Amino acid sequence: MLIILKKNLPLSDKKQIRQFLVNKNVEVIPVDMADQSLMVIVGKCGELTKNEIKKHKFVSEIIEIDRPYKLASLSKLKTKTKIKIRENLVIGNKKIIIMAGPCSVESKKQIFDTAGQIKNAGSHIIRAGAYKPRTAPYDFQGLGKIGLHFLRLAADFNQLPVITEILDVRDIDLVARYTDIFQVGTRNMQNYPLLKELGLQRKPVLLKRGMCATYKELLLAAEYILIGGNQNIILCERGIRSFVPETRFTLDLNAVAYLKHETHLPVFVDPSHGTGRSSLVRAMSRASVAAGADGLLIEAHLDPARSISDSDQAISIQELEKLIKEVKLIAKAVDRL
Ligand code: PEP
Ligand code: MN
Repeated sequence: MLIILKKNLPLSDKKQIRQFLVNKNVEVIPVDMADQSLMVIVGKCGELTKNEIKKHKFVSEIIEIDRPYKLASLSKLKTKTKIKIRENLVIGNKKIIIMAGPCSVESKKQIFDTAGQIKNAGSHIIRAGAYKPRTAPYDFQGLGKIGLHFLRLAADFNQLPVITEILDVRDIDLVARYTDIFQVGTRNMQNYPLLKELGLQRKPVLLKRGMCATYKELLLAAEYILIGGNQNIILCERGIRSFVPETRFTLDLNAVAYLKHETHLPVFVDPSHGTGRSSLVRAMSRASVAAGADGLLIEAHLDPARSISDSDQAISIQELEKLIKEVKLIAKAVDRL
């Protein structure tokens, strides 16, 4: 159950109602969002009835939610989250948003050339990792801080917003200085200390589904960020482990349709990691948009075979251009832009 507080209550009033509830053994978690303050009731209403809480002078309304992810679920509180990245660039609107770029920032020249070319191909946001979560500790781990710097310069030169991965809670302030959107990778979906800290940020977070996570686990991970007050979350399906050896992961498009019904948060798809094969990325991009995705996260490289990381799944810029044209046709067919 959610207790929606009246608008613009001073801190002293919020403290007062919290104390009133505590005294009646009602356990709550207060949530301060940009436009709304509320409290999530944990468990039962203590010694109070729902009506008694509703009558409190600081309460605007009570919303009952029969889901464990109280803030992430579709409800009277929220029907659709729209995330404004820039003027004319909103995630969660009709327009399909394309985030594209290399797996990793490899050099200043590489990221500058890539930024110009992915923009010309029709991408809206540049992606690239400076901190890479590699399976083997001997593999390229990313350029780190200097990589973030190159990425930001290349993006600004081309007036593109940036999305880049945050691996470590200790790097949040640093990465926040360079990025417009935090990416939480599949391996960190259940890194709860990281999620809690990102909840205190106001920059959007693209939260990738853990490669073995259920939909419920993904939504509860998003809930950790929402509880902190950060409402700007984009969920991302990026493929799950299955028994199929022919692809790196199995892209689960059920997740897109399911999540669009279950949550108000925008849903993206990463068909690059989801397939692990460049030859499948275009087809699965089309399918993702047909399934209702709000956007795509694509790995594209100037010279895919030479990509330092994830070369098997990187598509060329020419292929990206084709992909974006095709996706626009599908978007039109499903009443999107
Ligand atoms: C990536 O986007 O480069 C990445 C590491 O993704 P994931 O966390 O989905 O493996
Ligand atoms: Mn990658």
